[in-house]
Amino acid sequence: MKAAIVESVGKVVVGEVPDPTPGPRDVVVEVAACGLCGTDLHIRQGEFAPTLPVVPGHEFAGTIAAVGSAVTEVRTGDRVAVDPSLHCHECRYCRAGRGNLCERWAAIGVTTAGGAAQYALAPVANCVPLPDHVRTQDAALIEPLSCAVRGYDVLNSRLGSHVLIYGSGTMGLMMLELAKRTGAASVDVVDLNPDRLETARRLGVSASAAGPDELDRPQGWDVVVDATGNAAAIQDGLGRVAKAGTFLQFGVSDYATRVTIDPYRIYNQEITITGSMAVLHSYERAAELFAGGVLDPDVFISDRLPLDAYPQALDQFASGVGRKIVVVP
Ligand SMILES: [Zn+2]
Ligand SMILES: [Zn+2]
Repeated sequence: MKAAIVESVGKVVVGEVPDPTPGPRDVVVEVAACGLCGTDLHIRQGEFAPTLPVVPGHEFAGTIAAVGSAVTEVRTGDRVAVDPSLHCHECRYCRAGRGNLCERWAAIGVTTAGGAAQYALAPVANCVPLPDHVRTQDAALIEPLSCAVRGYDVLNSRLGSHVLIYGSGTMGLMMLELAKRTGAASVDVVDLNPDRLETARRLGVSASAAGPDELDRPQGWDVVVDATGNAAAIQDGLGRVAKAGTFLQFGVSDYATRVTIDPYRIYNQEITITGSMAVLHSYERAAELFAGGVLDPDVFISDRLPLDAYPQALDQFASGVGRKIVVVP
């Protein structure tokens, strides 16, 4: 079958790999669409994936093409979205219900072959059936949405919070849509990219600007979310948290990124700094929210490109043009 392959650091090609064969409790999914995200850029630069080559793609949905000998829950032809999480269920963190921090953390499309291919292998336990009205191609958005749902689990949101989001790429926009659902008193979005900010405005923000200085809120925000991973944004955001507020590190930084904190202010103003990593017990809820129309796929997916264009799609994503890019094998 045809697949995108991260061959070595910086080198991505589209080529032939062996067809997947399901184990007893696996299914083979014929991929309808696979989304690209910042994690794929990290994999390209040699981070996250412990070994290369790897077939990337952890955001995908498709139609079941084959099932293992012990699979009874789904059948060939069923349409599913796939939770890429491969927690070990044995380590200390898994046993404590914190599988996203698994000591043997693994994920489809990161540590094992993923959905940027014609076919992908997945445990049946990771497959969530799609209702009739959800288009299979659009369901590639469920995985990033499940990361955003996890972010709100960490935040323990209270009604009536003032929220500031850095970044209006796909993840920032998902955090925006969910902030509105959690009853935020206001949601402001900042981004240096005017095109992206325009989409945030279209979805509905309280205020938006290139930076928080242009927003009139000297007392700060109850919840500040970084959805950029960018050091300057994070540094700025840490200083925008109101008393008793929370800063959520949601964007993925480079390993080497460093910012400074103000311990006296954290103490004196009881500020919380926390993080949210990938998916945790949030995939099915994201699928429910998605089926309920929490976001408009035609706004979120800006480009649907052929699998052959995967390397160029990654370049386009890295350049910040567009929103969610999916490849359609
Ligand atoms: Zn992703
Ligand atoms: Zn584990």
